[in-house]
Amino acid sequence: MSPTSIDLPFLFQSLMGKSITFTPDEQSFIKGLEPLEGGEWEGKIKPSSTIRRTDRDAMVTAIKTKLLAIQGDYCIYCGLHEKYCGSKLQREHIAHKGRDGYPTFMFEPFNLCLACYRCNCELKNDLDIASGNKTTYNENAFIIIHPYFDEINNELDIGVSTGQGIIKVKNKSIKGIKTIELFELDSVHKTLQRCGLIRAYEEKTGIKYEDAYHQITGNKYVSK
Ligand SMILES: [Zn+2]
Repeated sequence: MSPTSIDLPFLFQSLMGKSITFTPDEQSFIKGLEPLEGGEWEGKIKPSSTIRRTDRDAMVTAIKTKLLAIQGDYCIYCGLHEKYCGSKLQREHIAHKGRDGYPTFMFEPFNLCLACYRCNCELKNDLDIASGNKTTYNENAFIIIHPYFDEINNELDIGVSTGQGIIKVKNKSIKGIKTIELFELDSVHKTLQRCGLIRAYEEKTGIKYEDAYHQITGNKYVSK
């Protein structure tokens, strides 16, 4: 296997300028599901709707394909490649779609990304990370690093200083602090996991540690 065919084990990325788009047909299909009240994404279709459940399911599947194309196989929050997540990546609504949340943004491209089960269901779940504006998406203030609106490298130092996969807050970023806390990015488990993944990548690719480290984290390896 050549080094280029080996996926990076983790990737912290911003999706700025990369959101998915819907064709006119898809847009009118989504219109047909309105009013969006929380339950339109999965399960039964409202009896009043003329849309077939199989078509809605196909639409939701297509959304995952579109997201994979812009995001790759990496959880947007913990950065892990799907093969290290312990589950398939799931479609995640950044401002949650529950009835008491933001169902109107269920198909908002800036509200859709992929995340692992641990980050999506166990850590974030229905936590309200927006500020309550349910009509204009980007007028919300988000309390965590937003994949489409924030450049992650301005908020977090990925793998700084010791080369041990440590993540720290940059520029005293409040969103950075909240993101690290919510997704346990600085836990011993995650830190050691990233460190081990860099080592394994080094072995698989034959690229020396410093260079593997640089490739994966985007930062220069500094030994202390
Ligand atoms: Zn994750």
